[in-house]
Amino acid sequence: MKKLIKFLLKTLPRPLLIRLSFFVRKPLALIYKGTKNECPVCEKQFRKFLAYGYGKTNRDNRLCPNCLSLERHRLLWLWLKAKTDFFTEELNVLHIAPEQPFIKKFKNLNNLNYISADLYSPIVDVKTDIRDMVFADNLFDFVICNHVLEHIDDEQKAMKEILRVLKPGGKAVLQVPIDYSLNETFEDPSIISEKDREKYYGQYDHVRQYGADYPQRLRKAGFNVTEDDFVNSFSEDEKEKYRFDKNEIIYLCRKPE
Ligand SMILES: [Zn+2]
Repeated sequence: MKKLIKFLLKTLPRPLLIRLSFFVRKPLALIYKGTKNECPVCEKQFRKFLAYGYGKTNRDNRLCPNCLSLERHRLLWLWLKAKTDFFTEELNVLHIAPEQPFIKKFKNLNNLNYISADLYSPIVDVKTDIRDMVFADNLFDFVICNHVLEHIDDEQKAMKEILRVLKPGGKAVLQVPIDYSLNETFEDPSIISEKDREKYYGQYDHVRQYGADYPQRLRKAGFNVTEDDFVNSFSEDEKEKYRFDKNEIIYLCRKPE
């Protein structure tokens, strides 16, 4: 059964998976009815979240049965509300590889001029390659591009492209999976098979495993980076309620003025 799920997750196009999930969402919400865990994105409560991930990344009690948010989405949502002007100011926003729980919510924010972009997704506004984007220089106030760079061979090129399309002083959130036990990011161009990439990088389509030097790599591309341990502003009970990753750091990247 686990092998079948793994196979389906790898082979079915993500838009189809999302459509399939739509049909099971209501019965799941009923099965998971309760108050122990809360999703701030869709503002619903459950007795627990669903498990998520496979192999080494499998973890219990993480995926919101209603909006499909994960721990990182819930933390980012609350961070955007608490620490930025994302929900209040008039902003040009570029959302690359948009996360399902956010798309509708962001589109409905009247203060945003919101553009979604991706190379492959059929549901985005603009199809573009992150390493060579179609947008003019100095266009966006805010770029969100999470869990993308670990898939991109030329990471510095992608980071510099994001820097280019940001206005001076503009902000970006470019979260990636990080193994903080590694001082240095691990990548080896000879690792190319899906099996080896899963073994060394944790997922069959990742091209590196980021370590604690991630913010330095962002700085190398030209960003000013603030490391925010926002997760520690919550009590232990709140961290459990939202099922956060207690080690997650949010990197606020700014284009120098
Ligand atoms: Zn939710």
